[in-house]
Amino acid sequence: MNPFTFTQADNAKAAIDQVAGNASFAGEAVRFIAGGTNLLDLMKEGVMLSGRLVDINRLPLDKIEEHEGGLRLGATARNADTAYHPLVRERYPLLSAAILAGASPQLRNMASNGGNLLQRTRCYYFYDVATPCNKREPNTGCAALEGINRQHAILGASPHCIATHPSDMCVALAALEATVHVESQRGKRDIPFAEFHRLPGDAPQYDTVLEADELITGISLPDAGRYAAHSAYLKLRERLSYAFALVSVAVGLDIGADGAIKSARIALGGVAHKPWRRPEAEALLEGQRPDPALFGQVADKLLEGARGHGHNDYKIRLARNAIVRALGTAVQGTVTNTGEPND
Ligand code: SF4
Repeated sequence: MNPFTFTQADNAKAAIDQVAGNASFAGEAVRFIAGGTNLLDLMKEGVMLSGRLVDINRLPLDKIEEHEGGLRLGATARNADTAYHPLVRERYPLLSAAILAGASPQLRNMASNGGNLLQRTRCYYFYDVATPCNKREPNTGCAALEGINRQHAILGASPHCIATHPSDMCVALAALEATVHVESQRGKRDIPFAEFHRLPGDAPQYDTVLEADELITGISLPDAGRYAAHSAYLKLRERLSYAFALVSVAVGLDIGADGAIKSARIALGGVAHKPWRRPEAEALLEGQRPDPALFGQVADKLLEGARGHGHNDYKIRLARNAIVRALGTAVQGTVTNTGEPND
């Protein structure tokens, strides 16, 4: 671990001022820290260096409350508290299921909602400082292109980076069309979830559109309960717990009394640099009755342009099958967990 300065803030303004006034400290970045479950690992490995960390855990950002017909999740609310919150479980069981599919109970107890959005890829080469990686060190190359790329992206990749986004929670937030609320000395702004994470393009060092001095204050969810009765989060991974998704699918369906699908939301994880959505695929379901052949067409539309890089070619077929299965599961009705930590 490299030495760094640690300060605490009692309110959002004080935290923002500390970061704004110190774009770098001792030549290294100044960053907010909440749970630190990913950032501290990266700092220990020398992947991300920080001159100063500004602790935001004392800020009043840990509430989960009603917000404009939906819910607002505080940025420092813990992932576990969010997943088990009665209003989240009742209105957004898709989000509960996705959070509980990720990490371990200990990590979920510590990790914050804001931090979950900012976790970095688990590409092995990103963590191995002896190998070239454009995300860690721009213009050095991408070791994964010719290396072991079994876990890497099949959609939206670029010649500069084929990494995937690791979060489960973000896949559900993308499907639910959340909004990210941020604040800096320049004021407040709201970022639609679909625009929050970036594709790699020629600047894979940037995972999101967040500026370095912007603080995430909360995440809001619209349409309370609209997809609660017919949702599913399917995560396929190499072991049953504590593993990142090879492919995951978040589905929410609004099915009318006549059995036709009024509205559909689908997002994929483990396949791209950001949670993957394609509204044209969702539109194929609207006004239609559930049908496995139709689900196959939806999967094909979602995966249009998918391309493997050798070791990860299998993901295209895996994703297609997962989409069809998740849609069928959601039609049957949401399976809710019991709320016990090891569900
Ligand atoms: Fe780095 Fe991205 Fe290539 Fe992985 S895939 S080595 S993160 S540039």
